[in-house]
Amino acid sequence: MKKNQNIQVQYNQLKTKSGTHSPSLATIQDFIPDLQIKVDACFLSNPYATELFLEYFKKEILDTGKINALLEFYPSQNQIIAGFIEQRLQIDSGHIFVANGAIEAIQAIIHKYCRGKLMITIPTFSAYYEYATKEHEIVYYQLNKNENYRLDVKDYIKRVNEEKPNTIILINPNNPDGGYIKYDDLILLINELNWVENIIIDESFIHFAYEDSDMALKSVVADVINKANVYVIKSMSKDFGIAGIRCGYAIMAKEKVKDILKNGYLWNMNGLAEYFFRLYAREDFLEKYDIVRRKYITESLFFISELNQIKNIKVYPSRANFVLIELLNGSTADKVTNHLICEFGVYVRNCNDKIGLDGEFIRVAARTQKENKIIIEAIKNVVEDKNLCI
Ligand SMILES: *Cc1c(COP(=O)(O)O)cnc(C)c1O
Repeated sequence: MKKNQNIQVQYNQLKTKSGTHSPSLATIQDFIPDLQIKVDACFLSNPYATELFLEYFKKEILDTGKINALLEFYPSQNQIIAGFIEQRLQIDSGHIFVANGAIEAIQAIIHKYCRGKLMITIPTFSAYYEYATKEHEIVYYQLNKNENYRLDVKDYIKRVNEEKPNTIILINPNNPDGGYIKYDDLILLINELNWVENIIIDESFIHFAYEDSDMALKSVVADVINKANVYVIKSMSKDFGIAGIRCGYAIMAKEKVKDILKNGYLWNMNGLAEYFFRLYAREDFLEKYDIVRRKYITESLFFISELNQIKNIKVYPSRANFVLIELLNGSTADKVTNHLICEFGVYVRNCNDKIGLDGEFIRVAARTQKENKIIIEAIKNVVEDKNLCI
């Protein structure tokens, strides 16, 4: 018990140091070697997709010795890699800015093209307000808790027309609540608000969303490609399970891509990322990927239904690979996350630094079936523990 208390103190110190992003698994293990983490349900990735990438990487790069060239030589330049994405998305590569993680594209767009007022829905992914500078004015659009933080499209359009921001930002499905804007509604919203100077749509979780049983992808990329004011942001970190190699891109007007690349980003991709984007263009890889995507969605749905059975919590409806959970037992997110990690080795996202959430919340990602069982048991134990209540 003493040892665990000590771990809890160390964990709190680390969390404070990390600010609005959670410490990575490696950082936690460096800082607290005694802590055994069994499941990382904080990071939001498809573990089966990571396995698939590794399978290819081993067979084609490691076992063949090609790893040597991949490390020794320069990777291709930004616009060459955009060519692989062009093959995949069937849109001209001139519209594609390849980024060292989607976060780089977010930073470039906000700093280069967004002036004046930014309207940001909250709760949200914190980079969108953290990357704003003193030249920006931020107005928040609070998602309504009584509507499970789902966007009310009509109300949103009304508010944008009143506030007249230069830039609006929507994440679909949203992080951290998994709220989903239906494809038809989003297209309507983009058309109604066509006067807005910059419309940023972040589709980083779109591979996990679905509208009917065929689980087809519902991206808006093809619909907005000719709109000079719309940007689509895409991270590959979560759906392909490869956050470590930093792959993302943004789709936008050709002149803007040209303008961004004029003063930099020539070699912002590394050899591993280039290999990934080459795979992204290949049919054999994508066929296999789509199988693990569907398998993961199906298992995640089961996981969410199991979480829904647990007492003392509210699980918010999600169309992503994670759920926002409100603690209803009088305990705090701090206590519950600490207990989950220190006693059960289950790492979840403590949402107490997220603006726009009213109450005590954690965010939990779906993992493999085996890991999901461990997560369920741990959460059950912790939220039913009377000692953890105030
Ligand atoms: C994780 C995340 C990103 C950043 O992804 P990287 O590609 O790893 O930089 C962007 N947007 C949202 C909504 C995210 O959750």
